[in-house]
Amino acid sequence: MGLRINLFFAATLAGAAVLAAPTRIAAAEPAGQITILYDAFGTDAAMKKDWGFSALVEISGKRILFDTGNDPDIFAANIKAKHIDLTSIDFVVLSHRHSDHMAGLNHVLSVNPTVKIYAPKEGFGIYGSSLPSSFYRKDESLPPEMRYYDGKPPEVMKFGTAWQRANIEPIDKTTEIAPGITLIALVSDAPGTKELKELSLAVNTADGVVLVVGCAHPGIEKIVEAATAINPRIRLIAGGFHLVVAPDEVIAKAVSALKDTFKVENIAPGHCTGEPTFAALKKAYGDRYRYAGVGTSLPLGPGMGTGGRRGEGPAIEGDDLASYRKLAQREDPFGILKARKLRSGLSHL
Ligand SMILES: [Zn+2]
Ligand SMILES: [Zn+2]
Repeated sequence: MGLRINLFFAATLAGAAVLAAPTRIAAAEPAGQITILYDAFGTDAAMKKDWGFSALVEISGKRILFDTGNDPDIFAANIKAKHIDLTSIDFVVLSHRHSDHMAGLNHVLSVNPTVKIYAPKEGFGIYGSSLPSSFYRKDESLPPEMRYYDGKPPEVMKFGTAWQRANIEPIDKTTEIAPGITLIALVSDAPGTKELKELSLAVNTADGVVLVVGCAHPGIEKIVEAATAINPRIRLIAGGFHLVVAPDEVIAKAVSALKDTFKVENIAPGHCTGEPTFAALKKAYGDRYRYAGVGTSLPLGPGMGTGGRRGEGPAIEGDDLASYRKLAQREDPFGILKARKLRSGLSHL
């Protein structure tokens, strides 16, 4: 084809694009993708592996950096390898205060010092917090010099953050921060991480919720249950499920809850999910198990989840099926049904 004809075609196409633009923008929102930027496994030779988690979530027209990894230099190298421009992200979500999720924040701030950062609000936590001064007991019989703030405290007492100039918005409870984009805030009750607050990212799409979790310290089932309150259809879960040291029966229960109770359609486990859990989920989910090593980009297009009928996972066979069913039959292992009953009871009040 000659140059002139090429130019003619280009001009025609450009004209068509201009004419079609308004409808195209409205109808075809980009499908989006999740790119794993930090993890300790993967096949992408350009990416460094290390314990920790970070992902770029491009969805619903937003570019969200979820967690920032364990080592700022490795994080910076992986960001560079993927040609990610940190000045173009819409906001950062820090799932929780563990260093394997937040150590790269200094690198983010060095490139984009004003970026909005959502982080869990914890009393005296490193992301900063506040309390009404009414929280502490007063003794008016004391002379002013023995009283806090000379006996005249500010109404709200602010507690500092490790990143003083950063634009951090502490999140206390589950909050929809943009249309369809919710941060689920839950607290861990597990020994070792008791009272640790964690944020998970739930994006409601036309095909169900896309859920990204950091370490799932409050329990993956509890997080998924909270996500089903947004939309009972869970399309994909990516991130760490925190079953890295869990025994087989705990893993089997979690797999059963995800697959049978919540009917999670696709699964992209990483980070602290654990090797035996990878194996169990792979067995249960077949081709709906999305490999998510460092460097992987998971497309969120409409073709996702075509391995079976919608809402149904692939068949499990033989012994696996028997053991999963057995566990599923154990009444209400996570108290989910009870919670649901309670909630529906409350909704009548
Ligand atoms: Zn953690
Ligand atoms: Zn972690």
